[in-house]
Amino acid sequence: MSIEICNITKYFDSFKALSDINLKINTGELVALLGPSGSGKTTLLRIIAGLETADEGSIIFDGEDTTQKSIQDRRVGFVFQHYALFKHMTVFDNIAFGLRVRPAKLRPSKEEIKQKVHELLALVKMEEMANRYPSQLSGGQRQRIALARALAVEPKVLLLDEPFGALDAKVRKELRRWLRKLHDKYPITSVFVTHDQEEALDVADRIVILNQGKIEQIGTPEEVYDNPANPFVYNFLGNVNLFHGRIHNGKVELGSIKLDLPEYTEAGDKNIISYIRPHDIEISLEAKGNEFIAAEIIFIRAIGPIVNLELRRLDNGEFIEAEINKEQYRKLGLKEKQVIYVRPKDFKVFIPEDY
Ligand code: ATP
Repeated sequence: MSIEICNITKYFDSFKALSDINLKINTGELVALLGPSGSGKTTLLRIIAGLETADEGSIIFDGEDTTQKSIQDRRVGFVFQHYALFKHMTVFDNIAFGLRVRPAKLRPSKEEIKQKVHELLALVKMEEMANRYPSQLSGGQRQRIALARALAVEPKVLLLDEPFGALDAKVRKELRRWLRKLHDKYPITSVFVTHDQEEALDVADRIVILNQGKIEQIGTPEEVYDNPANPFVYNFLGNVNLFHGRIHNGKVELGSIKLDLPEYTEAGDKNIISYIRPHDIEISLEAKGNEFIAAEIIFIRAIGPIVNLELRRLDNGEFIEAEINKEQYRKLGLKEKQVIYVRPKDFKVFIPEDY
């Protein structure tokens, strides 16, 4: 089932929670709604589900206007952050629930329900747990059962609101890989809300980045990470260093660094902000040209294969975070308080007046 979200605007009293949202989700796609707290992710998910009505715009399922339809008529499955399992029911009964409450004419037989529940238990790798109660399961296991329960009624669309939000980091990671694999096997159109960048980059076919009720960018994980549309997206998707500078006489100047970048030779004089990821900072023991800046090493964290360096530029006192691999770190013999030279290998230039 495809979903088209057309010109959706939502107010809570006079507060505009969503502003003219347009998005097409293809059949079988797994889309993440990613954004900071309060950006409107849950509100948009609830509008897709039919749990909330929009003030303007429409929701189209497979070409059919569904805006006025109730949640029961939309065939959506919902999984929440806080496992909404029935505490007094076993795992089996929780999964069977949605099938048992169907009107008599549509209700499967006892035998069919049993078979379906066992298929779902196998799917979420919980075959042994049918007779347990939710209180006898770990958080991760409960979320897998919540997913099995949502899938039992064969929804056309699966909506997940921070489904792993309440779990610890390790379990979260395991479960999101598991969800990705499950989705590859059974590609049901899914919308996944998260405020965790890594989770969205790991799980989604496409990511929709929301900020203050507006879409900042839509793209595959590679697209939004490598080609962020604006400084907000760049900042939101990972650690960045900010270098203030300017374009002057066709050159990009970042402090004492002057770079010839063909795309800016015609740009005219302007202030710029340039964003550089820590792994895009080149480190050297000597200044090899005017693209290198002197910086003092303030702090070294050398745990694991990646070494994090915290540096302070000597020319303007700004802090820089850099990442290098352990081999290079050993080869250079870096020490705290040492002065080294850094060069931005790759960076994005944003002209503030454009955003
Ligand atoms: P979080 O990650 O914190 O869950 P979110 O991106 O999902 O945030 P929403 O829950 O969609 O954000 O909320 C968007 C904005 O709308 C917030 O400012 C919130 O306070 C407001 N809001 C949400 N629901 C209501 C409501 N029922 N009444 C009034 N304001 C609301």
